[in-house]
Parts: sequence; C-alpha cells; structure tokens
Amino acid sequence: MSDELHHECGIAGLYWLNKSKGKSGQASRALNSGNVTALMPAMLLDLQNRGQLAAGLSSYNPNRVQFLDTYKDIGTVGEAFRMSHPAKHQAILSDYAGRAVIGHTRYATSGEDDARYAQPFERHHGRLWKWFSFAFNGNLANFTELRNRLLSKRGYHFTLDTDTEIIMHALAYRLRGDKMVDLQKAMSSLSRSFDGAYNIAFLDATGRMFVARDPLGLRPLCWAVDGRLFGAASESVALSNLGFTNIHSLEPGQIAIIEKGKLRFERFAPSKRRAMCFFEWVYFSNVASVLDDRSVYMVRARSGELLAEMEDQPVDDTCIVVPVPDTAKAAADAFAYRMGIPSVEGLIRNRYIGRTFIQPNATRRQSARGKYTPLPGVLEGKKVFLIEDSIVRSTTMAELAGLIRRRGGAKEVHVRVACPPIIAPCFYGIDMSTLGELFAPKFIDRGYGGRLSTQIQAEMAGKLGVDSLHYLPVDGLCKCLELDKCSLCLGCVTGKYPSEWGNKLMRSAKRNFTTGKSGRTYE
Ligand code: SF4
Repeated sequence: MSDELHHECGIAGLYWLNKSKGKSGQASRALNSGNVTALMPAMLLDLQNRGQLAAGLSSYNPNRVQFLDTYKDIGTVGEAFRMSHPAKHQAILSDYAGRAVIGHTRYATSGEDDARYAQPFERHHGRLWKWFSFAFNGNLANFTELRNRLLSKRGYHFTLDTDTEIIMHALAYRLRGDKMVDLQKAMSSLSRSFDGAYNIAFLDATGRMFVARDPLGLRPLCWAVDGRLFGAASESVALSNLGFTNIHSLEPGQIAIIEKGKLRFERFAPSKRRAMCFFEWVYFSNVASVLDDRSVYMVRARSGELLAEMEDQPVDDTCIVVPVPDTAKAAADAFAYRMGIPSVEGLIRNRYIGRTFIQPNATRRQSARGKYTPLPGVLEGKKVFLIEDSIVRSTTMAELAGLIRRRGGAKEVHVRVACPPIIAPCFYGIDMSTLGELFAPKFIDRGYGGRLSTQIQAEMAGKLGVDSLHYLPVDGLCKCLELDKCSLCLGCVTGKYPSEWGNKLMRSAKRNFTTGKSGRTYE
C-alpha cells in the first residue's frame, strides 16, 4: 500500500512443555536445551510487518534472581535485539534465556513512540502470581471510558497515554487477593468491560502463560505444538518458519493456558459473532500467512481475478499491469493472468530507504517521490493498469499516477483497487481514526450500499488525475474471503461496526468531521 497504513503490533509466545504432545518435528528438535528465548527474535522478525517502532520479550527462568525478566528497546527487531552485533545479540539471548517467553513488535495507534511504550509491559510484585508481563495486539475502542472509570477510583494514576497501561492495571486488579487467581476467570472478567480488539500474550513469575484472542476475533492469533514446544503468534508465518507444521487459529473468545508445564484450552468469553478484520488479508499480514484457514496470498489473488472479471476497458497490445509494490503484487499477477496481458514491474520501491529517511515533516507526496521510481523503459507509451491493494488517503496514489505518466511516459493510467473504498475510520488498531484524513467519504452519497456507481468512480478518478478507477465492491471482498458479512469486521468500508463502542466512536467521528475538530477519535 502506498499510503503506509500502520498496524498496532504483533505478539508471540513460546513454551517448553513438561511432556511431549505428539511427535517432535523440526521446530522442537532445534531446541535440545529447552531455552525457547533463542527462537523469539526470529519469530518477531516474521511479525515485523506489524510494527517497527519497538520490540521486546519477557522470559521466565526460576534459576535467575529475576524469575521473570523483560528486555525491550525501540527500533526494528534487528535494531532492538542488536542483530548486527553478534556478541551483543548473543548476550541478550543468554541473559534472558528461559523455558517460556513472550514477545512483541510495536506500532502505535495510541501513545508516543518512545521506549516507555515498548512492550511487553512487566508489572513487578513480591507475590509470584501477581508479578506478570504481557504483550498486547489491538486497540480498545472504549479506552477513554475505561481510563475515566479507573481514574474515578481512589489512588489510580496513569503515566502513559496508551490502552496497554489500562490493560495492565485491569489485569493486576483481577489478580488481587491472597489466593492465586485462575487465568481463565481473570480474562473472563476483563472481557466484560473491554470493547474492541485485544489479543494478549501473558507470562507470570510462577511460569504460567496464556495467549487469548478477543471474542470478536478482530486480530488473528495462531498456535501450534511440536513435541514439547508450544508456539503462538499473531501470524502463522512466524510459526511455519520455525518448523511448526500443524498450525491452528485460536478461536475468538478462546484462551490457551499453560500451567505447571501443561497446556489446556478454554473459552473465556462467549463469541456471539465473529468480526475478523478483512484488512489483515488485504494488506497488513505477511503474504505467506494463513489466517483463520484462509491464505493471505490466495485471497489477494482472488481479488485480482474478480477485478479482471469486472473490467470494461478494451485490451490492446499496449496494455500492461503494474502492481504498487509490494502488497498488491498477488492481485496484480492474478488480474494480468485473467486479462491475458503482462504483469511487469514498472514502479520500483526502494527497499533500503529505512524509516529515518522519511522525516516526520515530509509530506506523503514527498515520501512517495523518495520511495518509488518509475521505469520509462517499461511504461513509455503504455496503457497501464495500476493495481493497488487499497486507497486510504489518496495523496500518495495521486503522486504515483503522476510519476507513471510524467516520468514513466505512460499514455493512460487506469487504477484498480483490490478493496472497497475506505469510507470510515478504524477504532480497532489500524492507524486511521478520523473521517477527515480519508479520500473516499467526500464522494460517497447517502444511498451507498457497498458498490460505487460509474459516475462516482469517474469523479474519484478525476480527483486522482487518472483515466479510470475501479474498486472491488464489498460483496466482492466477501466472495474473495469466502466469508459472509457477519463473520467479518467491515467497519471502515461500511461505517457499521461490530461493537457498541465502534458505532459510538463513528458517531463522534462524524461530529468531529462536521465541526472540524482534529485528533484521533478515540482519544
Ligand atoms: S474497521 Fe477496518 S481496519 Fe479496522 S478492524 Fe474493522 S475492517 Fe479492520
């Protein structure tokens, strides 16, 4: 995606169980000492697409003074874990060695991007079961309400501006008392007050671990067992690359608990409906992942095929298909195959540009100019079908189309988007929380039912400076996912959200839009 939407976080967990749960394969054979920490940086690298601001881990090791200990730093996984300094990297792995570990990669939809916000969040306590650490993926839509509720109780004070701190206090509150609290009960109690996306990986100083997926299943969470090794991660690719083979998705509202080295699964909350975020397949997740039994690659390829079926442009021998690198490639290749025209790299992305080059005060247009290079040898005189996975804010797409025409010499640019128009914000962990920042709402009329008229698409094309524009309709998206509307969150493409607070926040987003109020809707 050229608009560079960001996602809030990836989580992972590993545990060396007391007993083997079946045959040992590649994943557990690599670990003869049972030190699972050594595998965590590799897992987090596979989740790097979900956050590049910070990375960290907490491990459990009763042979250390610190039974539970946390290492975290800002930067990419490679930077945080000092991967370019083998001696420093090895020292981290050895200092934090353990039989249980949770890990995190961070991007922020709430809170600042300094080291204090890096996860896991560890909460120290003299009593072992109250001394815990956790990693969180999602966003609580009722963040402000929960915060205000806790503030109104005597003695609460917040030091950070993030829902993760709220979760830490809420968890600590559920673990109070003189007896060790059952983890399923603690999550069950939390779920009654939480609204939104909240996948959690938890570890305490007694060696108890859990991973839990929120009852709507908004964000993905996968798990697998190989011999004595249990693994869980936001995306399957982090498990398959370790050698796990039989990978499952945690059910919405389900919790996997490891206690005394034994694994069990329970339900912590009823899941009245599912609302898996469609954007995970369209853009966010690694193309090699399989989420809720659906391959990210295959869903993207099907969206390209569907766009080809809808195509009304005449095809001649000047036609080429160009993907916006990298996430639109699967859709572009499938589109091109169906259309019988070549898919070529007419737009090159500078993969080595790094985050620092894109200065915070650079406009999206400037960023696009620095990141993409059009190839005149490929584009000159061509009728280009430019395939994009989604358009959020549009400034970058307009710039790219201009680059292809002006510097590349294309004679026509036809944009095909493998996703419906984004007409509303996200309150569940994706960095687009206001109506004002979005491109499509300005064109959508009251009667919009998920399929744009030819006239509106032509108006949008005019605004972008391209010859034509087609979006995938909402029902087409569901077809690509082989899921009905009731199993998906389609909030940002329909304006209707799967939770009470999602709909409440949408009403205030509309108010803010009309009154010109700025800032994230949920803050
Ligand atoms: S609103 Fe959109 S981006 Fe946010 S969770 Fe729902 S489908 Fe995903």
